[in-house]
Amino acid sequence: MRPFTLHQPSTIREALDVLTKHPNARVIAGGTDVLTLLRDAVIRSSQLVDIAGIGLHGIRHHDDGTTHIGATTRNNVADRRLRERFPALIQALSSGASPQIRNMATFGGNLLQHTRCPYYRQPEFACNRRAPGSGCAALHGDRRRSAIFGASRTCLAVHPSDLAVALAALDAIVVVEGKDGIRRIPARGLHRPPGTTPERPTELHPTDLLTSIELTTSPRARRSRYVKFRDRASFTFAVASAAVALDVAEGVVRSARIVLGGVAPLPWAASKAEEALVGRTLDDEAISAASKAATHGVDISTRNEYKVELVQRVVHRALSDLGGRS
Ligand code: SF4
Repeated sequence: MRPFTLHQPSTIREALDVLTKHPNARVIAGGTDVLTLLRDAVIRSSQLVDIAGIGLHGIRHHDDGTTHIGATTRNNVADRRLRERFPALIQALSSGASPQIRNMATFGGNLLQHTRCPYYRQPEFACNRRAPGSGCAALHGDRRRSAIFGASRTCLAVHPSDLAVALAALDAIVVVEGKDGIRRIPARGLHRPPGTTPERPTELHPTDLLTSIELTTSPRARRSRYVKFRDRASFTFAVASAAVALDVAEGVVRSARIVLGGVAPLPWAASKAEEALVGRTLDDEAISAASKAATHGVDISTRNEYKVELVQRVVHRALSDLGGRS
């Protein structure tokens, strides 16, 4: 580990001042991702900003039906109202990492975690995301885990956060503070497709701070589900996952959110699958049609074509689980 200066601000303003003064600084809270990346020289910075002490911890439910979750709230939440109002969120959190990691990892860090592409995490390989313009070792390497939606010639890596997928399906808002004030970014638009700039995976600027997540209670959020397929039963990242939220009245789907994980560089909105459900009775036929529509626009290589069927199955499972409820 290279030497670094640790800043420990006590307010958001102080933290923003440090980030403005040191645009190359890295923010840490739980440290579960950033510290390993620094140790392995995947990222480099001589300035760390520890935001654990600036008052961003906690969950607050308000009378108007909104819930605010502070960015440094740990991922080991046991909040009854959160579970009742946003079941997919709790299911996504509990499906990720080990209990020890969840005890340390934070909501903000989870959303902003770096890709698990093995070439990204080993500095001896070319990687446009780590070193812009250096190339992409995955293009001619092991592509079993690479994206089947939304990739580009510069980067094929998938986004690793289960939480980000659930929040996108729940229409969450991510609150960001920067030198120009407060911005509210829909979770569905927080992460960017790689295009020609894979080194910039989110809408955040280096001097921005993710401060909280805002959720609104709704019939659709209450009827939500997260289903994850992975290589082993626990402590690993999604090969394919789906977060589904449905508003159903008298058996007919009034609105739907279907977002996929583990298959794209960002939480992937399966809009054709959503369209296939709206206005239809939530029966086996509609569920099968939506599951097939979820892979509309897929772009596969010879090593990752197996993900197509996995996507259809996780969507089918999530919809079937929700279909039995009145
Ligand atoms: Fe880097 Fe993306 Fe290529 Fe992986 S897929 S090596 S993260 S550029």
